[in-house]
Amino acid sequence: MAIGQDRISIVVPCYNEEDVIAETMKRLCAFARQAEADVEIIFIDDGSSDSTRELIKAFDSQGVPIRLVGFSRNFGHQVAVTAGINLAQGDAIVLIDADLQDPPEVIHDMIKKWREGFDVVYGVRTERAGESGFKRATARGFYRVLNRLSDVPIPFDTGDFRLMSKAVADVLRAMPEKDRFLRGMVSWAGFRQTPLFYKRAPRYAGVSKYPLAKMIRFAVDGILSFSIKPLQLSVTLGMVSAGVALCGIIYALVLRIFTDIWVEGWTALMIAVLFMGGVQLISIGILGEYVGRIYSQSKGRPLYVVDEYFGFPPPL
Ligand code: UDP
Ligand code: MG
Repeated sequence: MAIGQDRISIVVPCYNEEDVIAETMKRLCAFARQAEADVEIIFIDDGSSDSTRELIKAFDSQGVPIRLVGFSRNFGHQVAVTAGINLAQGDAIVLIDADLQDPPEVIHDMIKKWREGFDVVYGVRTERAGESGFKRATARGFYRVLNRLSDVPIPFDTGDFRLMSKAVADVLRAMPEKDRFLRGMVSWAGFRQTPLFYKRAPRYAGVSKYPLAKMIRFAVDGILSFSIKPLQLSVTLGMVSAGVALCGIIYALVLRIFTDIWVEGWTALMIAVLFMGGVQLISIGILGEYVGRIYSQSKGRPLYVVDEYFGFPPPL
């Protein structure tokens, strides 16, 4: 490793990845040896309950610096990646999943683009092999909705597989938000950003650590962290329902005063009551989501708790 070379940090979040981690480390180390740069690989063990952490520590990387941050429990993918970015020493930082869906070899091209002067090189999936039709369809829908709502454009079909320069990483490090939606935060940061197209492989082994409930949470986070349009939507809903209610009131009064068929109308009454109730609950729910975020932000707790560092150089 020559002095004066670029330093690249690779950040890999892992949660119960014992089935793939050895292969991932092998591929990443092979990449590191070929790269014309000093590469450090930072694994974040996001509170795995299997042997992921032991496998990482025991791996013989033959000189490639392997670092490990062990969380005290599962804090979630986005938080794990955040910890990696906070600790990365590199001039450029690459985020990659542990399951080899994103081929490490693509990082060579990312580095090339970075050297051409781009600050963010984000991977765009041209194919998503091995993912269910349901996952693909929901992902497509999600990015479209997100872009309609969000105030910053967030590129379609991107994940967190990307390279960012130190300047962008410094912007992320200065963003204290608890609900983290990294790909949106990177878009928000600005600088020169460019896509890099690649084919997404199937997961090498193991199962997805993003069950449907987590995916929905993630999508809601993405939308609410980048937009207050849902609040505006609830105002619109409120106005429309108030308008409809007003027509109903006039209609009911006219019947009551000018005719004698005023005992009827149970159906209309039920519809109005249920409709108004629905609109109110939705609006309160939307409001609650934002209030909940203010609440968790105001507690000012740290984003994550580390119970082990391994392989980091001693502080100077
Ligand atoms: N992951 C994590 N914490 C979690 C869930 C996932 O660190 O709570 C990691 C996981 O080990 C993997 C990456 O995040 O490296 C993406 O997860 P996964 O491949 O299961 O998601 P999918 O590709 O199915 O969306
Ligand atoms: Mg995956």
